[in-house]
Amino acid sequence: MTAERARITVFDTTLRDGEQSPGCSMNRQEKLRLAQQLDRLGVDVIEAGFPIASDGDFESVKAIASVVRRPIIAGLARACRPDIERAWEALKDAARPRIHVFLATSDIHLQYKLRITRDQCVAQAADAIRFAKSLCEDVEFSPEDATRTEPEFLCRVLEAVVEAGATTLNIPDTVGYTVPAEFGDLITTIRQRVKGIENVVISAHCHNDLGMAVANALAAVAAGARQVECTINGIGERAGNASLEEIVMAMRVRPDRFAYETGVVGEQIFAASQMLSEITGVPVQPNKAITGRNAFAHEAGIHQDGVLKNPLTYEIMTPQSVGVPDSKLVLGKHSGRHALGIRCEQLGYQFDRRALDDIYRRFVRLADKIKHVEDHHLLELIRDTHKPSGSATPLIEKIVPPQAAVVNAPAVTPESAPEPTKPFPVGPQTNAFGVPLPGHGDSHHEQTQQEDYLWGV
Ligand SMILES: [Zn+2]
Repeated sequence: MTAERARITVFDTTLRDGEQSPGCSMNRQEKLRLAQQLDRLGVDVIEAGFPIASDGDFESVKAIASVVRRPIIAGLARACRPDIERAWEALKDAARPRIHVFLATSDIHLQYKLRITRDQCVAQAADAIRFAKSLCEDVEFSPEDATRTEPEFLCRVLEAVVEAGATTLNIPDTVGYTVPAEFGDLITTIRQRVKGIENVVISAHCHNDLGMAVANALAAVAAGARQVECTINGIGERAGNASLEEIVMAMRVRPDRFAYETGVVGEQIFAASQMLSEITGVPVQPNKAITGRNAFAHEAGIHQDGVLKNPLTYEIMTPQSVGVPDSKLVLGKHSGRHALGIRCEQLGYQFDRRALDDIYRRFVRLADKIKHVEDHHLLELIRDTHKPSGSATPLIEKIVPPQAAVVNAPAVTPESAPEPTKPFPVGPQTNAFGVPLPGHGDSHHEQTQQEDYLWGV
């Protein structure tokens, strides 16, 4: 009875389309960090940027291509030589490079934006693909604004690029205009009419202007698309892109309707979402499906009661299946370094031993002060500890080894700490969390106690 489940390629464009959305720009280090998390998440393709757009974008794509080796690394290019050359320059050291070329095909874009005829459009697309193919085996083509392109003409362009060597045909609903049944029909039309289509992968790239990006992407898959382009938290131009976590979990929770598989590691979803939000400073909408903080919160008494008796009464998936940390696990000062390390990982941070020690010292002081350390406290603590600065492990306060602190207690003064961005109530002799700094008050007692927890795990 078990039918073969088709494997869907997950193409993540958080670092390209997502990064283009207001307030979501990221620097090279941040992009690299997120790319490594996307790798852990198990996406198949990472679109790392648009190399000709800026030197920063170019360097980011190059850095990701050289460090992240498992997934395909894609770079975007307009359908012209300089763009494609620049993309290739950034990608050529990747283990699995892909050049992604796009050219608008709708009449409104051809007339008003590109000022070219349909014939010129076909020729330019095919030329660009031929050139990209001369550099890179893996070439994707996107007819921008495909959903507002006359289908007959769309098929003509697609046929030309398939003949020129494209290996993936991405169908973008650039303006978020289509609806599921219509988009599914378009994919079916393409499969029926484009010569050579059976040798290439059809992809869907949906925007959420009408709130249907995920539904449209799933409709495309049902009609035969085998790649979905999506972003973490659904970030992206305007109303955003189709959300990776929603597509993946729809397939997992409803295999009866969506008999497909992806390589995504569900348990890494929450960490990826948190990391993105932390890097960009853009919070996740609280009721956002899968990754919002209320997605698994049961406020109503009758729901709480049901969930405690059997989670399936109100939960269609468990928080653990998407990596949401068990909310019953509260970190306090008796939590060990191991537990802290695990929680940090769940929140999207992996630290080496030295960095974790550093975090742990601060955590113990904080726990001493506020008893229960919640995720937002921990995230702020991590952020404060890893504020960008010249040094590899910047510190907001100098951590003095316990013995030294005992001897030098009165003389120790904190390094001038930068102002916290979102401070807890801060007294004159406390750090960002209101925890007394070394050299003040009963620091002797604190330091002694701290030592016990520091190495006791
Ligand atoms: Zn897009």
